[in-house]
Amino acid sequence: MQTSPHHIVEVAIPLPLEGSFHYLLPERLAGQAALGKRVLVPFGKRKLTGYLLGPATLAETVELKEVLDILDEEPLFTASELEFYRWIANYYIHPLGEVIKMALPAGINLVSRYRCEKAEDGTPVLREYLSGGRHVRTEKFYAAVPEVDARPRGKGAAILDHLAEVGECSAASLRELFGDCAPQLHRLVELGAARMSEREVYRDPFRAESFGHDAPLPLNPGQAEAFSRVSAAIESGAFSPFLLHGVTGSGKTEVYLQSIAVALRAGKTALVLVPEIALTPQLVGRFKRRFDCGIAVLHSGLSDGERFDEWRRIRRGEAQIVIGARSALFAPLERVGVIVVDEEHEGSYKQSEGVRYNSRDLALVRGKLNSAVVILGSATPLVTSFYAAKNGRLGYLHLATRVRELPMPDTVMLDARGHKGETFLPPLVEAIGENLANGGQTLLFLNRRGFATYLVCHDCGHVLRCPNCEVTLTYHRGKGRHVCHYCDYMIPAPSVCPACQGSEITMLGRGTERVEEEVQELFAKARVSRMDRDTTKGKGGHARVLKALADGSVDILIGTQMIAKGHDFPGVTLVGVVSADASLNLPDFRSSERTFQLVTQVMGRAGRGDKPGKVLVQTLAPEHYALTCAVGHDFEGFYEKEIEFREEVGYPPFTHLASLTISALSARQAEQAAEEAARLLRRIKSECRLRVEILGPVTAPLGKVRGRFRWQILLKGKERSELHKLLFHFRSGYSHPSTVRMVVDVDPVEML
Ligand code: ADP
Ligand code: ZN
Repeated sequence: MQTSPHHIVEVAIPLPLEGSFHYLLPERLAGQAALGKRVLVPFGKRKLTGYLLGPATLAETVELKEVLDILDEEPLFTASELEFYRWIANYYIHPLGEVIKMALPAGINLVSRYRCEKAEDGTPVLREYLSGGRHVRTEKFYAAVPEVDARPRGKGAAILDHLAEVGECSAASLRELFGDCAPQLHRLVELGAARMSEREVYRDPFRAESFGHDAPLPLNPGQAEAFSRVSAAIESGAFSPFLLHGVTGSGKTEVYLQSIAVALRAGKTALVLVPEIALTPQLVGRFKRRFDCGIAVLHSGLSDGERFDEWRRIRRGEAQIVIGARSALFAPLERVGVIVVDEEHEGSYKQSEGVRYNSRDLALVRGKLNSAVVILGSATPLVTSFYAAKNGRLGYLHLATRVRELPMPDTVMLDARGHKGETFLPPLVEAIGENLANGGQTLLFLNRRGFATYLVCHDCGHVLRCPNCEVTLTYHRGKGRHVCHYCDYMIPAPSVCPACQGSEITMLGRGTERVEEEVQELFAKARVSRMDRDTTKGKGGHARVLKALADGSVDILIGTQMIAKGHDFPGVTLVGVVSADASLNLPDFRSSERTFQLVTQVMGRAGRGDKPGKVLVQTLAPEHYALTCAVGHDFEGFYEKEIEFREEVGYPPFTHLASLTISALSARQAEQAAEEAARLLRRIKSECRLRVEILGPVTAPLGKVRGRFRWQILLKGKERSELHKLLFHFRSGYSHPSTVRMVVDVDPVEML
């Protein structure tokens, strides 16, 4: 790296601090320095891992500390990746060092720790040591040395014969064949009969699976039209973003596959993002059957080590396709030709803590930086995406029909008003019974876990709430406890009211657990199962429930939104939405959009096989357009209504949003800090004459979480640049005591 005369370098440090830092590079390290390598630097009383950004010059002379060490042989990121990281740091108003740390595989940094040791005179002292740093895995390989007379006996001889026959073997494979054989191997090497070499290996979770091969399918006219526009764009080599709109089963994935093939033939690579829950072996298998090239898979089930290995494979150019969930957007893939974001409307593309980025949005940014084609695919695109397509900012590709012309399910809305206390209205009970008699499977959807939603006392009106969070506790019958869904606080079910000792306590509302029990009571012979966060805990829990449904050992499956997403259940002929109201009534401007997407998705689970399906939707709001349009399979109708609402009240795409959440352990301190922040925002706004609306401060919809009182300020700007200007000035001007926390969320998705 070119350094300035005094060898001053710029280093980003992964701490919630603004700006980058300067250090002196000692002569002995100058030859190794390069952009993208990690360095060990002193910081305050600690040693920290930082990232080398480049040479720096300083106007004034200041005392600088020295870089202690350079930790990498090869840089971890390139100059163009740094450009992307800087963009993210500026856009999401987040320190660059933390952005870089998030983009790189977890667990690779060295951190200072302290341990208590005894000094020579016996007094305890604190000693600093460094821990962490993900290591490359190596393995020992053995091979027979020909023409050596020395011959061991017993197991050693058998091993040697094996080595002579098959050639080099890893220690692990020898262990599998011969059991523990370390002493024998050691002896063989000592005798000179075998030699050992140690080499780097990858931890590969998909190694053993074989996927077979399949060929591209002849495209139908809709697919062919979409494909020809995408492939022309790939060949042009310019940034081109598309929205691929098509119901599940309309052949979107086939369009992705063939487009990726075009990119690969042009010597480029492809990045495929899917929601975590859709990242299944089936999906990966479809790619592996189609392509012979290296495919890297990044999902949350990988250990840090496995993830690090996949990352290194990609960095070294050993994978041409990367498939992964949200964070795979940061895969160090070069020459990216296509980026696919499947199910682009999914809220899970937004990271809800730390750097609050949105992979769907960043896919467009990366696409632009890499001059790539970006395909956003969905059956229910975001209203903002559809708006962008209508305005020509996204190329619009439409797959209007399913590949196999399946009849749309027959859908009925059931008005639940005036039926207090009934979980199922009579037509739904009847339909379940009928479906059961005909041997069909039923899905029942309810967006609430647990048994009852809350416990209330009829004598004093006391409601059981979490002491840390301002929410009611949910009763879980299986556990016999009331649980907070935000912080996991739990108490045993009381037999009397904790406030007045009265015995008239009742459970109100119902969750999946209670619905399951009621179904079982109504249909004693049915095989009933449940799928929610409680029943799918642990590795493979999710797959277990899905398998039971697939092999026909379940008649009725009750579940939360988990059952709505992307699975294909050919045996399901009835879908019941037990309640569509919980998501409709969330205090969030996207609640209609979410409800429309969710109900559409749940409906899509019916009749995927040969038999036509039936859908029943129970609701207290049967006239709401989100429901009437979902039930009528009318995306455009929904869009027209929703865009009108957004324009009227000034929400995206007509404005850009940022939210500030300020929290503290005392209610008073939170309020004061929030007011202070709002005052500063208003001052900056008037000084810079910015057209940004400042709403609040108000207590957050979730006014208390994990013991912290929360206040919110919402910023709405017509021009994104003005909103950002306000945030920049605010960040540099706002100081608060360390007991107060402030989180800036640009383009918030959850506003609770
Ligand atoms: P989506 O991604 O929109 O859900 P898929 O690409 O998975 O759709 O297609 C749905 C099903 O139809 C898959 O089983 C796929 O193999 C099949 N399929 C897709 N395109 C074609 C085609 N052109 N001809 C025949 N079958 C197709
Ligand atoms: Zn809680």
